Amino acid sequence: MLTVKAYGATSATDPLVPLEIERRDVGPHDVLIAIRYAGICHSDIHTVREEWGPITFPQVVGHEIVGEVAEIGSAVTTHAVGDRVGVGCMVNSCRECEECRAGDEHLCENGNVGTYSSVDVDGTITQGGYSTHVVVNEDFVLRVPTEIPYEKAAPLLCAGITTYSPLATWGAGAGKKVAVVGLGGLGHMAVKIAVAMGAEVTVLSRTDAKKDDSLAFGAARHIATGEEGALDSLKRSFDIIINTISAPFDIDAHLRTLRPHGALVNVGLPPEALPMHVGSVVSGRKVFAGSNIGSIKETQEMLDFCAERGIAPETELIPADRINEAYDRTVAGDVRYRFVIDTATL
Ligand code: NAP
Ligand code: ZN
Ligand code: ZN
Repeated sequence: MLTVKAYGATSATDPLVPLEIERRDVGPHDVLIAIRYAGICHSDIHTVREEWGPITFPQVVGHEIVGEVAEIGSAVTTHAVGDRVGVGCMVNSCRECEECRAGDEHLCENGNVGTYSSVDVDGTITQGGYSTHVVVNEDFVLRVPTEIPYEKAAPLLCAGITTYSPLATWGAGAGKKVAVVGLGGLGHMAVKIAVAMGAEVTVLSRTDAKKDDSLAFGAARHIATGEEGALDSLKRSFDIIINTISAPFDIDAHLRTLRPHGALVNVGLPPEALPMHVGSVVSGRKVFAGSNIGSIKETQEMLDFCAERGIAPETELIPADRINEAYDRTVAGDVRYRFVIDTATL
């Protein structure tokens, strides 16, 4: 066992605090990673505040992890000490179900092992990336191309793949009109990636406050949706909508902005159930879909795509003792556009 420094939650309501946690010994197929940076995803906040249901405390979250390989197990062939690597939202899966065999381990029938707050193969609860080190099975460790600076790479491991995957799946590209709803961590990556794929992008944000940023990221338009009826003039506008909002939203109004056969793909995960009229998809043969992260293969493809196309998130680097403040600012929408923790400050 390796005792390492971390920052985590001891209850759903208390601030996160410095903690010491145990990492397992490096097994034959394991990689020990010295973590350099960890991004703060809104899912970390939903989890520790128990907005998605009860969890086991103490809990260290963080699933946007980058660092260097510090040690490898005896059977590891794909990673070497000193390599630049990353870990996203999964650290293992059953490897046997139809989805795992097809390379869709993020859809594992038996539930993949999440990077945090998940039951690991040894029965312990996984602890995430707000920590100095982590031990991960080699198959769930990604290569981080040298073109991407370390702290810029971290948010790609969740925000990057979560938006790249549905954009690729639903065919964002030249001639396609894409709307991105919510300009936060996921949203701003969706804009940059969709623009790089060749789509015409419109940002749907609550206010005009981020308009200059939307245009700087390559969007053609930024529309403030806060006013009642703001979407009315956008009927039949979009082929694909990527919804990243972390809170309830008006599904019917957004579906009306799709062209026939268009798809509204949800990646945002508000804790509440939301109402919708089935007629909103029946007329126009529209698709109301969801998407969660992406496979390991697709995550590597996304990292290579971002390196090749010079795509990187906008980040604000913070020391560990500002994590609680960063949580409050993220919930308040005051983030431009991803907080990243410097783990040297743990
Ligand atoms: P974030 O940085 O907080 O961004 C969310 C954005 O949603 C905000 O910037 C804001 O955009 C908009 N928003 C927030 N509250 C709102 C409200 N009350 N009404 C309307 N719009 C609101 O969060 P994130 O890290 O991008 O994560 C977004 C969601 O995706 C979370 O629910 C998270 O759990 C989920 N998620 C899902 C996956 C997956 O695999 N499906 C992966 C990662 C995260 P504007 O200010 O522009 O309006
Ligand atoms: Zn995430
Ligand atoms: Zn499986």
